[in-house]
Amino acid sequence: AERWMKDQDKLASVGQIAAGIAHEVKNPLTAVKGFLQLLEESHPHAYLTTMKSELNIAINTLTNLLHVSKPDLYEEEIVPIYLCKEVDALLLLFQDRFYDIKVELFLKDTEIYILGKRNLFLKAFFNLFKNAIEAIEGNGKITIEHFILGDTVHIKMHDTGVGIPKDKIKLLGTPFYTSKTQGTGLGLTQVFTTIIDHGGTLTINSHVDCGTTFHIQLPTKHHRSH
Ligand code: ADP
Ligand code: MG
Repeated sequence: AERWMKDQDKLASVGQIAAGIAHEVKNPLTAVKGFLQLLEESHPHAYLTTMKSELNIAINTLTNLLHVSKPDLYEEEIVPIYLCKEVDALLLLFQDRFYDIKVELFLKDTEIYILGKRNLFLKAFFNLFKNAIEAIEGNGKITIEHFILGDTVHIKMHDTGVGIPKDKIKLLGTPFYTSKTQGTGLGLTQVFTTIIDHGGTLTINSHVDCGTTFHIQLPTKHHRSH
């Protein structure tokens, strides 16, 4: 087992540097893309089309990075988010995977809600759920539960997936850290940033070959983190 909590200051500084670089690199790339576009209109060529689509991949990565490292840019109002309702919609997105993955929900208390920025949270739950699905090879199970203890809302997502090696746990949430060939390494950065932005914590508990639990704790009353 390995429990670990993200150091808020470390994440903030890495995020700020990443955002700065993303911004500086994205502007010239966007300019190059504009000129490629003009060139392609006057001189159509397959190479230009390929160059444009490769540039788009790079620009999209930088845009995602800007979103995760500067959530404040995306001012949203604080609203109640009812987990049991939102999770149903989330499951629909992944339903074609559920012939070999069983999903167990302990979200019976329809009164439980968290206060926060809805779009950021839906994205965070999406990112956590997607990771859980990707961690499961063959058959497996994902369990989601929530409960209130004192002034804290607890949300747990457990999967019976491949687990995370002990020495890798401290890397989770670092922008671009991924163990997947097709990964971006930005999913957990978005999750950490969102939860910290809401005054909460995220704890990870994982056993290789057994599974992983992500444990979110959020204050029941919203207090501004900035
Ligand atoms: P990506 O999914 O694009 O790789 P993430 O930031 O979402 O990027 O996750 C970073 C890494 O954390 C993953 O590549 C994987 O190694 C590890 N990880 C995240 N969630 C899980 C999980 N539920 N089970 C096992 N490993 C996980
Ligand atoms: Mg991911």
